[in-house]
Amino acid sequence: MAATILDGKALSAEIRDELKTKVDELVAQGITPGLGVVLVGDDPASRSYVSAKERACEKLGMHSEEIKLPADASKEAILAAVGSLNENKAIHGILVQLPLPDSSIESAVIDAILPAKDVDGFHPVSIGNLHLGRNTFLPCTPHGILHLLKKSGVKVEGAHVVVIGRSNIVGRPLANLLSMKSELGNATVTLCHSRSKDIKRHCQSADIVIVATGRPHTLTREMVKAGAVVIDVGVNRVDDASRKRGYRLIGDADFDDLLDVASAITPVPGGVGPMTITMLMWNTIEAAGRQ
Ligand code: NAP
Repeated sequence: MAATILDGKALSAEIRDELKTKVDELVAQGITPGLGVVLVGDDPASRSYVSAKERACEKLGMHSEEIKLPADASKEAILAAVGSLNENKAIHGILVQLPLPDSSIESAVIDAILPAKDVDGFHPVSIGNLHLGRNTFLPCTPHGILHLLKKSGVKVEGAHVVVIGRSNIVGRPLANLLSMKSELGNATVTLCHSRSKDIKRHCQSADIVIVATGRPHTLTREMVKAGAVVIDVGVNRVDDASRKRGYRLIGDADFDDLLDVASAITPVPGGVGPMTITMLMWNTIEAAGRQ
C-alpha cells in the first residue's frame, strides 16, 4: 500500500489558524508579537528562509523587523545588532539566520541573545532547560517534527526511533525530546552520525526513521522496514534544467523508492520545512505573552 504523505503545509495551516487567534487576543491587549531578524550576507537560501519567516509574521498580523548586514560585517557589528533587538520593546523574539559567513563567531552571537527572546531555542540557557525537561523555547525543527508526528496520529510512545544526524539544531535536541518522559516523547531513541557503524541495521529495526544529514540518498529503500514512518528533514538543491530557477529541492531520503515501503513519509519540500516556520511563530507569540 502506498505511504500516507505527511503534509506539513496543511498541518502548518491548521496550527497557524490557532496561532492567529492567539495573536488577535494579544493585539486586543495592546501587544503585537514582534520578531527581529538579523541577516548577514547575501546567501540566497538564507534570504529565502528569512523572507518566508517574515511573510508568515505578516499573515498572522505580527510585527517583524530585519537588520541586514554585509557579509564582511564585524563580530562587533553583529553583536550590536543583536543588542539593539534585545533592547527593542516591540521585539519579543530574535532570530539570527544561520549559518553566518564567519561560522567561528556563531556561538558568541547566539550567547548574546536574551534567553527571554531566544525563539530559535539555540541559547545555552534554552538548551539546558530543554535537557532538564523544563519549560523553555524548543528549537523549531525538532518541535515541528514532534507536532507533525502527533497531529498525524503517529504513535511515538514506546516506538524505536532512529535519528540520523547529531547537529545541535536538529538531531541532538530531537533525540532528547523524543526520549523524554513527556506527552510527545517516551520513545526509545538511537542517534546515528557519520561515524556510526551499520546504520542500515539500526534503521531496519526502527518504527520511525528521522533523517537530517544534508546528504541526498542517506536513507534508501533497503534500510527501512515495511510500515515504518519516515521523516525527512534534509533540504538539498540539485541542478534541474527543466525548472525555471535551474534547480529543485530534494531531501535526504529516496522519497519515490520509499513510497511503497513506508506507512507514512514527509515530502521535501512541504514536510518539515513549513512546520519549522510555524514553530518559530509559536515561540514568538509565546514570548510576547510572557514578556
Ligand atoms: P549538519 O549540522 O551538517 O549535521 C549533519 C549531521 O549528519 C552530522 O551529525 C553528521 O555527522 C551527520 N551525517 C552526515 N552525513 C552522514 C551520513 N552519510 N551518515 C550518517 N550521518 C551523517 O546539518 P543540520 O543543520 O542538522 O541539517 C541537516 C539537514 O536538514 C540539512 O539539509 C539542512 O538544510 C536541513 N534542515 C532543514 C530544516 C527544515 O526546516 N526543513 C531545518 C534545519 C535543517 P557528524 O556529526 O559525524 O559529522
